[in-house]
Amino acid sequence: MIKAIIFDMDGTLYANTDIRKQFAAAAYHTLAKFDNISIDRARVMIEERRAELKAKSGFPVPYTLTLKSFNIPIKVWHKENIAFFDPRDFLHKDEKLKASLVKLKKNHRLAVMTNNNRIQTERVIEALELDGLFDRIFTFNSFEILKPELEFFKKAAVELGIEPKDCLYVGDRYDVDLQPAQEIGMQIFKVEGPGDIYDMTSIMLGHMDLPAAGAQNLI
Ligand SMILES: [Mg+2]
Repeated sequence: MIKAIIFDMDGTLYANTDIRKQFAAAAYHTLAKFDNISIDRARVMIEERRAELKAKSGFPVPYTLTLKSFNIPIKVWHKENIAFFDPRDFLHKDEKLKASLVKLKKNHRLAVMTNNNRIQTERVIEALELDGLFDRIFTFNSFEILKPELEFFKKAAVELGIEPKDCLYVGDRYDVDLQPAQEIGMQIFKVEGPGDIYDMTSIMLGHMDLPAAGAQNLI
């Protein structure tokens, strides 16, 4: 039985083109500053590396993991992106998402688990007006571990006091969110954005069999 639902944040609780662009621009800015090169050169290097990593893994690679491949410390990247943009300038309350989470919270522990840093995560949760809905919010700063490392998933389950088999992991990236969650025994639900969470809520509250009902979203 699913007792806890863990949500990825970026691309899952919101999907926003402006923020995607800000993340990209912040990544170019960070590599340019770190390697003392032009923004244009940094953009080419990052996008070439993303293409290489995608060809290898078969999946698009987040900027955080791309910068890590250039040996940029995660803390440096987070410091730069915190200063570079504020998600509150681009996000606002999602009434349907909030209503869905309020319903799910009645019967499940809810958590967020993101590779983002604590400050940007707090800004996003505030902008979406989801404060107080999550029992736990795990960011990179919680354990200084990034998804897809299995340890991040295991520690989150331990802190929630719940066995992995009783957790449902909801995320937008198979290789970063869902594959590792499944590997440690969690159930998984693939979304393209918050719109799919509205559907998930009705499936779970209807006590329908999740794999059958949400088959198109389950891998
Ligand atoms: Mg995501």
